[in-house]
Amino acid sequence: MKGKLYLVATPIGNLEDITLRAIRILKEVDIIAAEDTRHTLKLLNHLNISKPLISYHRHNEEVKCDSLINKLLEGENIALVSDAGTPVISDPGEEIVKEAINNEIEVVPIPGACALVNALIASGLDSREFSFYGFLSLNKKIRMEKLKQIMTERKTSILYEAPHKIQNTLKDILNEVGDRNIVLARELTKIHEEYIRGKVSELIEKIENFKGEFIILIEGNNNILEEDFFKGWSLEQHYKFYENQGLDKKEIIKKIAKDRKVVKNEIYNYFITYNKKNEA
Ligand code: SAM
Repeated sequence: MKGKLYLVATPIGNLEDITLRAIRILKEVDIIAAEDTRHTLKLLNHLNISKPLISYHRHNEEVKCDSLINKLLEGENIALVSDAGTPVISDPGEEIVKEAINNEIEVVPIPGACALVNALIASGLDSREFSFYGFLSLNKKIRMEKLKQIMTERKTSILYEAPHKIQNTLKDILNEVGDRNIVLARELTKIHEEYIRGKVSELIEKIENFKGEFIILIEGNNNILEEDFFKGWSLEQHYKFYENQGLDKKEIIKKIAKDRKVVKNEIYNYFITYNKKNEA
């Protein structure tokens, strides 16, 4: 009988954030494949678990994948863990999952901590729909393309970033995406856990000397509207919509005329008559 591949989530800081099921699986499997065996050994020592560890990281993923698949085919059960959080999410594992599926080996996720999910639920930003971008590429062209995509994204965008690159990435966000509302989720589940909220420009200054791990959450672009979004609205409702965004009368009339593809004067005259009627 073939073995099973378990994808086991581990804590992202606080060691209490490991599930009972994860502990049981780590105790039961034959082998643990770990992104960094020394790092995982600390967790296993804390849990009093002793198991053969095999290193499985980005740079040996292809080579190690074959030998792990062979062990699974021979009937051994393997748990895959990353340094922190959920394996495969911006961490190694996709390769072996695909190969396991190709070999009809059962893949079982063991849920637990995932940095992006926890950052999102406490961010206060729209969580109904969101886009996760992982780490931005270091390749300038690809990086700029992604940032342009984020600029027009209506959903909350979530990015991972390495601690020493956070300032640079925020500067790129400011230049390409704009001075949007963002949330920086810092050191989740650890002593210095905090959520820093504000405009990109404010946070660049604020976090200058901050250390630790960060997740960047960017509020969606609310200014991009569907064509005909105003369908069914009266002109007064249309006016109120822009007024609520802090626009002045002149700007509002210009925008309404543009939306409705009519000349500005038509809208302007309507409101003069409307105001006169209401004053009478
Ligand atoms: N697979 C992991 C997950 O989804 O939970 C993420 C691994 S990824 C290599 C590491 C990135 O996740 C960090 O650079 C940071 O952006 C984010 N991260 C992980 N743990 C974090 C924490 N405790 N607080 C804030 N960000 C964290």
